[in-house]
Amino acid sequence: MMEKEERYQAVKAILARYIQENRMRNTPERLAILEMFYLQEELLTAQEVYDIMKERFVVSRATVYNNLQLFYALGLVIRVEEDNQLKYKACFGEREFFRTVCTRCGRIQRFVAPNLALAFDGVKYKRFHMEQIVASVYGVCSSCQSKATRIRKKLEKEDELKALNKKKKS
Ligand SMILES: [Zn+2]
Repeated sequence: MMEKEERYQAVKAILARYIQENRMRNTPERLAILEMFYLQEELLTAQEVYDIMKERFVVSRATVYNNLQLFYALGLVIRVEEDNQLKYKACFGEREFFRTVCTRCGRIQRFVAPNLALAFDGVKYKRFHMEQIVASVYGVCSSCQSKATRIRKKLEKEDELKALNKKKKS
C-alpha cells in the first residue's frame, strides 16, 4: 500500500488531468471532497459528504453528488455497503479488487476484496511485478433480472389467455 500523501498526490494528478482535458473549472469544493477520502480516509455516504461540505462551503447537494459520480467514474472511489447504507471509500492503490459485470447490459460495479490475494498466495510471477489483482464476476444485475421476470410473466399470461380462449371455443 502506498503512503497516504503519495496516494493523495497521485489521485490529485489524475483528477487534474481529467479536469484539464475536459476544460472543467478547478474548484476547492472538489478537492475538499477528495481530501475527505484520501487524507482523512473517511468512509461516508453521499449525505454525510454533503453535511460536512455545507459546514465549510456554499454548496448544493447536486454538486456533491456530481463530484462523487466523477470520482467513481474515474475509479478514485468505490461504493461499499455498510449497515445497509451505500458508502464511498478511497480505492486508488488498493491491491485487491473484484468487479461484477452484467452480461445483459454491461453494468460494472467495483468492490474491494481483501481476501482475494490469498487465492494468489505463493504464485511466482515471471518477469512481472504484480501491482493489482482484479477478478471479474459475470452475471445478471438486479434490474436486468426484474426485466426478464416481467417479460416471462407477460408471456405466461398470454399463454393462459390463449388456453382460455381455446376452451371457450370448444
Ligand atoms: Zn444488467
